[in-house]
Amino acid sequence: MTKKIVILLGLPGSGKGTQGSVLADELKIPHISTGDIFRKVSLGESDESRLISSYMREGKLVPSDLVNQLVIKYIVSEECSAGCILDGYPRTLSQAEYFIEHVDSDVYVLFFELGDDEVIKRILGRYNCSSCGKVYNKYSYRPKKEGICDSCGSNHFVSREDDDEETIARRIELYKEETLPLVQYYKNKGSFFLIDAAGSRAEVTKEVLRIAKRI
Ligand code: AMP
Repeated sequence: MTKKIVILLGLPGSGKGTQGSVLADELKIPHISTGDIFRKVSLGESDESRLISSYMREGKLVPSDLVNQLVIKYIVSEECSAGCILDGYPRTLSQAEYFIEHVDSDVYVLFFELGDDEVIKRILGRYNCSSCGKVYNKYSYRPKKEGICDSCGSNHFVSREDDDEETIARRIELYKEETLPLVQYYKNKGSFFLIDAAGSRAEVTKEVLRIAKRI
C-alpha cells in the first residue's frame, strides 16, 4: 500500500483540527498537529521548551530546523507507516521544500478557505476540554450538556494562551506572508482540493468525507 500524506492548509481557526480528526478516522491514519505537539513540548522545563513556548505565546513561528526534524521523525515512525494527516505543517515555502526533499509518498492537499472576520470570531469563541482536548465553540458548538464534556464528562475547560485578539492578528498576518504562498505552490503540483470552510461543521465534514473517497 502506498503511504498517503494529507496536508491541511488554512488560517488558524478554519477547521483544520476538527476536520483533520474526522479525516484521520476515515482514512485510518494518524492526525499529526504540530501545534498540539509544540503545546505539549512547551510545558516542559528544558531550554528548548521555554524557547518554543515564547515563540508560541507571541504568535510567531517556531524555527524551521526544529519543526522539520520533528515532523520527519513522525513521518518515518511506525505509527505513520500507512501515512498521516499533517495539520500545521508545512507552514512556509522552505518547510515545503524540506518536506519534498525528505519524503517520498503520495501527497494530497486540502485547503480550508475562510475569511479573516469569521476566523477571528471562531478563534475568540473556541475553548477545549482540559482533560481530553475536545474543542468547542461558544457560538457554534457547545457541549450537549452545558459545562460537561461530551467525550469524557470532565467539567473543566480552557482556552489557548495564543487565542487572544492581539496574537490572533499577528498569526493571521504571518499566515498571509508565510503560508498562503503554499496554496499556489501545491495547486501547481496536483491533488489539491479547495474546501469552502464557511459552512457549518456538519457541512464541511460532508465535503471532507466526499474528498476522502478520492484519496
Ligand atoms: P497551531 O495550533 O497550528 O495554530 O500552531 C500553534 C503554534 O505552534 C504556531 O503559532 C507556531 O508558534 C507553532 N507552530 C505549529 N506548526 C508550526 C510550523 N509548521 N512551523 C513553525 N511553527 C509552528
